[in-house]
Amino acid sequence: MIEVQPLRQPWRQPNPLLAAFIAACMLCGTAVLQALLSAPLPAQVAASEAHAPQQDTARPQVLFLTHSAGFAHEVVKRPATGLAIAETELSAFAAPAFRVRCTQDCSEVNAAALRDVRVVVFYTTGELPISEANRAALLAFVREGGGFVGIHCATDTFYEWNEFGQFIGGRFDGHPWHQEVGVLVEDAAHPANAGLGAAFRIHDEIYQHRELTRSKLSVLLRLDPKSVDIARGRHADGEHPLSWCSAYGKGRVFYTALGHRPEVWKDERFRRHVLEGLRWAAGLEQPQPAPPNATQLLIEAALSGVALPGGGDGTLHLEFEAPDAAALGQVRLGAGATIHLSGRVDAAPLADSCGAIVGVAAPSVLAQRAGWQTLDVVTRRDSAGLRRITIALNGTPVHTYVALPAPAQEMRLQCSGTSLRFRNIWFVARTT
Ligand SMILES: [Zn+2]
Repeated sequence: MIEVQPLRQPWRQPNPLLAAFIAACMLCGTAVLQALLSAPLPAQVAASEAHAPQQDTARPQVLFLTHSAGFAHEVVKRPATGLAIAETELSAFAAPAFRVRCTQDCSEVNAAALRDVRVVVFYTTGELPISEANRAALLAFVREGGGFVGIHCATDTFYEWNEFGQFIGGRFDGHPWHQEVGVLVEDAAHPANAGLGAAFRIHDEIYQHRELTRSKLSVLLRLDPKSVDIARGRHADGEHPLSWCSAYGKGRVFYTALGHRPEVWKDERFRRHVLEGLRWAAGLEQPQPAPPNATQLLIEAALSGVALPGGGDGTLHLEFEAPDAAALGQVRLGAGATIHLSGRVDAAPLADSCGAIVGVAAPSVLAQRAGWQTLDVVTRRDSAGLRRITIALNGTPVHTYVALPAPAQEMRLQCSGTSLRFRNIWFVARTT
């Protein structure tokens, strides 16, 4: 084992905050490093700057389709003039980041129109009148790097188009509950869950889904089974995901089941959840600042292993940078999982590609990018008591719900070859 080299060499980076970070690391004063770790990171500064008013042409376009071929929700019924509630609200809360084009005309989903679009959003029901060619154009748009966001009844759409169910991740299977419910935050590190804490309560119509492609999904939110009469649902294990995301080719799919009731569209938590989901789907998400309940894990401490609170069940977030193709490293989570990090870029996922769980599984997709990269690891016990691990590399799920052979009670960082650089490492223990 070769120890992590804590940022010995300066590298090209114009940001003064990061330059200060490098200088601190060269001095290696733990107190200074701790202070800097709690200070805003350059990316966070960039995130707040992104909210400044921008020229319309500077903001990427969202195409928001609210066509109801089946049940028509109140929030998408347009008054005699103007837009429906969902259209007005989404246009408003997405405005800092996106131009939103609202339509109820399915013919606007076509290859030519999609050339100017970054994210397609569906709040739809039934068999949409979209031609076969335009359906193929929609899938090709996402496969080639576009974003797709489904809200609430988007899964109550296209029952006669098989591929759509797999694309969005599940099919509506009734709404056994319409009440105030508890929602558990499954992945505290996902930007769409920022500010939601470990759990929250909300009054909405609550879907259950069938044909969930669980092995391909990163579940972000799920129903707290204790908050409802769970026997009214059809899933014997009580597992009802309410929001998830997945990779689709080079693109990204985000879904949230919330959003039936008009007041939910005015709820700041829902608005932020959807906005950050849009940003994530567009590939514009910023590295996550540590939530208030996170434990900051210092780089020096990690050299000899740090105990993870709560027995290791929770969310581990770390950021790393590979200076060249020879950079190699591992994140060891107890005896349960060793995650491979690499500066080498492969043509296809391999057993030692960046993001592989050593000896267990290659990443499902390649999700490396230049510069600082993020690794988010979520572990939890399933209803059978088995530990499951979900890993996202740069926001893209590369392992979902993989069974772990042993608990992950501590974390170690290891490097060999050219050293990787690490920053902003934190852990949120699961409390639910
Ligand atoms: Zn509904």
